[in-house]
Parts: sequence; structure tokens; C-alpha cells
Amino acid sequence: VSECDVEGCDRPTHNTFLICGRHGDELARDLADPAGLRTDADGHPMPSLPDELAATTSRQDKLTACSDRRGAAGGLPWKENAADAAWVLAHTLHAWAAELADTRRVALDTTTVTETAAWLHNRVDWLRQHDAAGEAHGELTAAIRNARAAIDLPANRARFEVGPCPEDTDDGACPGTVWAYIPTRDDDPALLRCTDCDTVWSTPQWLRVGKRIRGLIEQRKRRQAA
Ligand SMILES: [Zn+2]
Ligand SMILES: [Zn+2]
Repeated sequence: VSECDVEGCDRPTHNTFLICGRHGDELARDLADPAGLRTDADGHPMPSLPDELAATTSRQDKLTACSDRRGAAGGLPWKENAADAAWVLAHTLHAWAAELADTRRVALDTTTVTETAAWLHNRVDWLRQHDAAGEAHGELTAAIRNARAAIDLPANRARFEVGPCPEDTDDGACPGTVWAYIPTRDDDPALLRCTDCDTVWSTPQWLRVGKRIRGLIEQRKRRQAA
């Protein structure tokens, strides 16, 4: 009996497994998400994480396009998140699948990210026995959770954080945070709103306010670095 390789876990592992049963189950549950193997409360299949990321990315592209008719450089700060998360997810899944296939001397015959995730999902026991099982668990769960955070989850699909509020109030700079509200129905307006001063910006104003928010973020970064 030895100890689980996952950082901070001291549960025992048995036989040739390097990570404990609980962390193996956790990895399987996480991998079901990009593999498109989850079902909702009624048993209907749910979209896979890569599909949801693609939908979020295209929705963000559309929003940027409508607030930036002249195609000026520099979108809103959140623009890249879903695309970045999709890239990290695809590469992390592929790297571990290729590593596992290599170790086990089997062919990896998957083409899509969803297929690769499903392949790994069916081989969690192999992952648990890999020399770097703790690392595999850490990297895979981090990539999946990062991707999950980047999509507009159905429950709050319409809302995500953009950055610090650029407005001034009577007592100085507004301490609030600006959120984007994206309608789930096309006939509702999309808007940005500050949680503190309640300032609202409509989509034609997004490019300008996005630049101001970006400026604020950079100013804070510089102040932190100084
Ligand atoms: Zn563990
Ligand atoms: Zn504000």
C-alpha cells in the first residue's frame, strides 16, 4: 500500500495504482464532460465541452463584430478566453492520450477532441497506473475546469465578468465590476452593466468602454508591478 500521487492527498492506493480510487473517479467524472457523455436530469445527452466552447467563441466573435464595425484593433478583454481554453483543453487531452497510447503500445485512433476525451475516459485505470498519474490528474482536471469556467454555463449563460468599472462616482473611481449580459433570446438586447454604480452600456458603446476597462486593467497591473 502506498500513498496517492495527487498533491495533498494521503489516501492509500492499491496494487499498481498510483492515485486513489476517489481521485480516479473524479478524473472519470471530469473527462465525461469533454467526452460528451453527460446527461441532464431528464437523461438527455448534454453538449460536449468542446462544442460549448466553440459556441461561446462564436458568440463572442459576433458580439465583438457588432460593437466594432470598423475593425479597430483590440477587442474586449474576455474575447480570447473561450478560444484559449479550447486550445489548452485539446492539447492537454491529446498529450496525455498520446503518452498513454505510447506507454501501452496501442494505436490512438481518435480525430476529434471529444473522441480523445472519450478514449481517455475509458482508460482511467491506465492513467491511474501511469508513472506520472498524479501529474496527469492535475493537468487534465485543471484544463477541463478552466474550459468549464470559460463557457457560458446554461444556468448563467447570459453573464460573465468583463473587468473593473471605468466610471467616476462622487467619491472617486467606482469600485464596481462590469458584467456582460448576453441574452439567450436574440430579440433581447445585450448589455454591459456595473454591479456597483448601475451604469449600463449598450452594444454600440462596447468598443469604447472595453478600451477604457482594458486601460484600467493595465494601469492596475503596472501599479502592482511597481
Ligand atoms: Zn487521492
Ligand atoms: Zn461602476
